[in-house]
Amino acid sequence: ATTTPLAQRSAEELEAFAQEQQQAYAALKARGLSLDLTRGKPAAAQLDLADDLLSLPKGVKDAAGVDTRNYGGLEGIRELREMFAELLWVEPEQVVAGGNSSLVMMRDVLVDLWLHGGVDSERPWSQEEKVTFICPVPGYDRHFTLLDWFGIEMVTVPMHDDGPDVEAVAQLVASDPTIKGMWLVPTYANPSGSVVSQEIAARLASMPTAAPDFKIFWDNAYAFHHLTEEEAKSADILTLAAASGHPHRPIMFASTSKITLAGAGVAFLAGSVETVKWYTGHLGKGAIGPDKVNQLRHSQFFGSPQGVRDHMVKHREIIAPKFAEVERILTERLGGLGVATWTRPTGGYFVSLDVLDGTASRVVALAKDAGIALTPAGASFPHGDDPRDRTIRLAPTFPPLDQVSEAMEAVATCVLLAAVEQVRGQA
Ligand code: PMP
Repeated sequence: ATTTPLAQRSAEELEAFAQEQQQAYAALKARGLSLDLTRGKPAAAQLDLADDLLSLPKGVKDAAGVDTRNYGGLEGIRELREMFAELLWVEPEQVVAGGNSSLVMMRDVLVDLWLHGGVDSERPWSQEEKVTFICPVPGYDRHFTLLDWFGIEMVTVPMHDDGPDVEAVAQLVASDPTIKGMWLVPTYANPSGSVVSQEIAARLASMPTAAPDFKIFWDNAYAFHHLTEEEAKSADILTLAAASGHPHRPIMFASTSKITLAGAGVAFLAGSVETVKWYTGHLGKGAIGPDKVNQLRHSQFFGSPQGVRDHMVKHREIIAPKFAEVERILTERLGGLGVATWTRPTGGYFVSLDVLDGTASRVVALAKDAGIALTPAGASFPHGDDPRDRTIRLAPTFPPLDQVSEAMEAVATCVLLAAVEQVRGQA
């Protein structure tokens, strides 16, 4: 096949190419596939890696002698806080080990800020005339849904390979006191795979903000989820912020949802000691303690921080071939044609595919009609609105490898058909 970019082809060449793609698409539809690349879920084989959890804990007391079956210990068991403090580069006093979902912790923090304000707020956020968040895009749809639910306004900044457009962020926060926070997935971001550099983290930690209680929701959901042997290190945002005089600015979140069991892991929050006290103080109004038995079995399952790192290598061995397959098929089918660009993540759960402007929703619709479920176009933007209608999030972890291949071949066919329709339409 020729790899002349579509935009440089003659009308006749495009006509022939369009016919080829229509035939390929008709053949694809005739296969009656039913495949799903929508959500970043671990595959069953990944969940199986945590099977030993199901026969733990051995005994019921933690290392400090606490009977984990009983009420109490809002901040979580000490040994697990210590383990994840080391992994997240913070002090144990700065970490809370909670329930099974970091997203719930993020929602709780927003509720607490809304009703009471943070440790450095002048008033509850609900009493502000307006609250605005900066959202790097493309980003995680559930972050945006949550902000929307509060009626928090969202302004977008571009996400680059090394983190958000920090110049744009610094300008926005310097002058607008309604900007109270930003969301950031610092390591192997959802969906771009970006890793926030040390320099950008330092700037975010130190930049002057018009709001005295500006918060960075540092959602480190993929901190340990490396796809290569070269393991990205997350910037040490709490130390950077404390050193620049803004110790309460970052609130860090993480969980073992994609380390052990997506529905039965342990979630973590980290921040200044004051932030931890603030959080558990509010938490205590509606909770007597977390599931410490689950925390104990996690602590025994991993054994040490190195145990977590070692466990992640087994995940890598299962999912790296799926990402390699996505890359191979996109390169073979779309390379050189000037119809798409895509990320080559070194960790995390996603590939972000940018097709020709104005064709992402068409690609997703074509795929749907052929039996391949893709994340809705626009999902990686606030209100589901991708102004250029070009970004598609691909999540290859859940299906078995042969289905990833089939689904990606199908995606490539849909991208090509949508592209040639668009290029001919403009000719
Ligand atoms: N943050 C990000 C960026 C995610 O991609 C996900 C899972 N898709 C979550 C949070 C959810 O984490 P948890 O399971 O701990 O609620």
